Amino acid sequence: MRLTVLGCAGSFPGPESACSAYLVEEDDFRLLIDFGSGSLTALQRYAGLHAVDAILLTHLHCDHMLDACTYVVVRRYDPSGPLPPIPVYAPAGAPDRIAAAYSQDEGPVDDVYTFYGLQPGTFPIGPFTVTVDRVNHPVETYGVRLESKGRVLTYSSDTAPCEALLRLALGADLFLCEASYLDGMDNPPDLHLTGREAAEVATKAGVGQLLLTHLVSAWGSEADTLDAASAAFTGPLEIVRPGSRYEI
Ligand SMILES: [Zn+2]
Ligand SMILES: [Zn+2]
Repeated sequence: MRLTVLGCAGSFPGPESACSAYLVEEDDFRLLIDFGSGSLTALQRYAGLHAVDAILLTHLHCDHMLDACTYVVVRRYDPSGPLPPIPVYAPAGAPDRIAAAYSQDEGPVDDVYTFYGLQPGTFPIGPFTVTVDRVNHPVETYGVRLESKGRVLTYSSDTAPCEALLRLALGADLFLCEASYLDGMDNPPDLHLTGREAAEVATKAGVGQLLLTHLVSAWGSEADTLDAASAAFTGPLEIVRPGSRYEI
């Protein structure tokens, strides 16, 4: 499978990146994981306006879902006529939330999206075997493990340390993990990980490669995050960029 980072800015768009959005492709099937604010621009730049066969939203914070609202226009008003609905796997509140953010007066968006409520468990999406589990974040949030052809990609979504994250990451070839907070600060509990915490999970889970994401550029320091992570994980490790591609 191939991962393309569309957006990786944590919490709000940064000067160089949209918010979270990751395109995962296998056998011409394209799964978009998260669709955060600003990432529709990146979808067009790095893939294509229609390069999405299914969407998985890990949670309903703006920086992970807001461009799913913007995307309604793309599919509903295509010059060739309305495009067929695509599946959206998301927490149960997604249909109302996306419809309300799109417009308070125009009703549901089920002509654009066919919604499937997420619950902890394993299910197929296209060629992928997908396992999701609740992670440690203030709203209903799912970490994601994708398997295909014996390869494994795990994405933390937003989370503080938790057992579910460790289970999802066990033995993953590539672990895309958030590192929002700086080590050594008085960070609020049960929200996010530091670089060191992300690396500790990666080491315990025995992952092949660690990719750090969801850094908040206005408040953080890439160098400090990388230093802290490197001290706790000795395998290949980097901070992702918009447009970065990884073959898994
Ligand atoms: Zn976030
Ligand atoms: Zn969040």
